[in-house]
Amino acid sequence: MKKTNPVDGKFQVVELPYGQGDLAPVISAETIGFHYGKHLQTYVDNLNKALPGSEYEGMALEDIVCKSQGGVFNNAGQILNHTLYFTQFAAPKEGNVPVGRLAEAIDKQFGSFDAFRAQFEQQGTGLFGSGWVWLSADAEGVLHITQETNASNPLTKGLTPLLTFDVWEHAYYLDYQNRRAAHLAALWQIVDWNVIESRF
Ligand code: MN
Repeated sequence: MKKTNPVDGKFQVVELPYGQGDLAPVISAETIGFHYGKHLQTYVDNLNKALPGSEYEGMALEDIVCKSQGGVFNNAGQILNHTLYFTQFAAPKEGNVPVGRLAEAIDKQFGSFDAFRAQFEQQGTGLFGSGWVWLSADAEGVLHITQETNASNPLTKGLTPLLTFDVWEHAYYLDYQNRRAAHLAALWQIVDWNVIESRF
């Protein structure tokens, strides 16, 4: 995958490819305000404070995620996870389905998009505590659905991350309270499959 390099020693919050209210009602402007504006900003600020003088100074974000542990890993992992997360969405669309080679791979491997979707939602709903559910590809182009706890990313297992749903409560609590499954089921309306396909 493409590497994210620091600029003047600092990482930045990724730009949103949509307006803060454009994902409503699936994700409200208020949730984007806290999740993107506060949570992600804090991870970026914390990592930028930890880097000067450390062995990770000047490294690409993806390399820090693969090589670090502890606080550096937690913040770098969450920056990478949220960068992939926030750049994979677009305004809600009815009948929103995968496109291109990825659509073919999903059908071939999971039987149908509906079967894939059910398995992905089940993994997200079943993840205990905070974390992420991922669709990734290995070097042979085989697709994998995995659960990652806390700040982890499938990149650390040699997989290429394609799509992710954030199951930390901060991702859905304002809009869905404890109804994680309802939130995950709604997210399919805003997945930008052209972006996901371009990562494949
Ligand atoms: Mn989050």
